[in-house]
This record gives sequence, structure tokens and C-alpha cells, in this order.
Amino acid sequence: MSAAHDEQTLAAAYVLGALEPEERRAFEAHVAECAACAEEVRALRPVADALAHSVPQRTPPADLRARVLNTIVPGAGDTQALVTSSPRPAMAGWLALAAALAVAVGASVYAWQLQQRVRTLEARLDGAEQRASSAERAVAEARRTAGETQAAMSVLAAPDMVRIELAGQSAAAAARARALWSRNRGMVFTATNLPQAPAGRVYQVWVVTAGGPVSAGLLTPDTGGRAEAYFNTPADIAPPTAVAVTLEPAGGVPAPTGEFYLLGTPAL
Ligand SMILES: [Zn+2]
Repeated sequence: MSAAHDEQTLAAAYVLGALEPEERRAFEAHVAECAACAEEVRALRPVADALAHSVPQRTPPADLRARVLNTIVPGAGDTQALVTSSPRPAMAGWLALAAALAVAVGASVYAWQLQQRVRTLEARLDGAEQRASSAERAVAEARRTAGETQAAMSVLAAPDMVRIELAGQSAAAAARARALWSRNRGMVFTATNLPQAPAGRVYQVWVVTAGGPVSAGLLTPDTGGRAEAYFNTPADIAPPTAVAVTLEPAGGVPAPTGEFYLLGTPAL
């Protein structure tokens, strides 16, 4: 290590504020003329600033100093050796080591604290996002329900409303349903006494026309066997000759394939 580098090792002690006033003035005078030391100070400054906020500043005990110095140069930690040998290089070595140690410990403490802060913020963000999306779902659900209720009410008042009573078929003899259909306003459908659909199956409602059956949509009864639904049926279909409910694979099918559970024709 050259003499210039001995000064350079003081940079860590300098940015940590560990130099005596006299040493500090001497080092500052040196830094003004030494690009290497100036660069070292610039590089260490942010770490020292971070340390100031993360670890308590402490003066190391004298025996620790002696032990550290003995590790670097055997005998250098003895009081006698310090007095008889040149104290500056020994002091510089000690301070540099202590500073490097403080920087290493301090930086890891600081990094750990940052990680904790990031984790806390991430948890808060997750919670906020979940609350927001749950509120959005509730609003969307309320809008949908309000829209369907309005559409259903408009069907009841439709001048072209057709009423169809559906009777339970052999698969569900006790089931009953009523469909109120309007070409432009859609269909309101209510059912009672529908058995729970088996796993992987679903009830599908059909508007049967001269051109064939048209799917109105899927129907899910509650645990009491009741079901209410509004279906936005296509406006370009022929008037229904019948309305039917079949049991179909989950997700529904384009044309009825399953057993009929409910069937009815328009009242004349
Ligand atoms: Zn220098």
C-alpha cells in the first residue's frame, strides 16, 4: 500500500465522521489535491448517509481497538508499540478496518430494513388491491342486478308480452315454471321445485320456434329448487311455439341434447 493509499483508507473514517479535527483538516487538504481520495469520499458518502439513519453511532472500546490492531500488525495494539511506532499508519489502518466493518454491518442492517419496508408496503398494496377489486365486483354485480330488474320490469309491461306456463316432465313432475316473453324486451323466467342439477350438468332454457330451438341461457336453482332469471333473447327470432328446460353438460350446448325437465306452450 502506497502512502497515497494510506490516505485513501481514511476516506471511510472521514465520511463516517470518525476523524479527529486535526486529522480531518489534514485529510480534507489532501482530498482537495487527490482525485483518488476525492472519488473514494464521493463513493462512500451515500453509504455513510444511509448508516446515519440505520445504526447507532458508537465509539468502539479500547480493548477492541487493541485486538483489531494486533490482528493487522502483531504487537501494534500494545500501548507501548503505538507510542514508539508511527501512530498515523496504525491509526489509519484501525480506522479503515473499523469503518469498513461498520459499513458492512450497517449496509446489511440498512438493506434488511429496506426489505422489511418493501414487504410491509407490498402487503398493504395487496390488501388495498383486494379491497378495491372486491368493491368493483360488488358495484358490477349491483349494476347487473339493477339492469336485469329494469329489463324484467319492462318485459312485464311489454304490449307484445307472451305468457307461457311450463309443466314438470317425468324427470321432475313437481316442477313448475312461467316464462314471460317479449320480442324486443327479452324473457323473464321463474321456476319452482326444480331438483338440484347433478355435478357437471346444468339446466338450459330454450325458446322453441318454427325455425328450431334457440338457447335463452342457463338456469341455476337455489337449494329450495327456486330459480329466477332474465334472458336477453334475440329479437330476430320467430314467436315461441314452446319454451323448454333441459338438463345439459356444464356450460350449455348449442341445441338441446338432454332430457326435458319443463315444457310449456303459449296461452292463447
Ligand atoms: Zn489520496
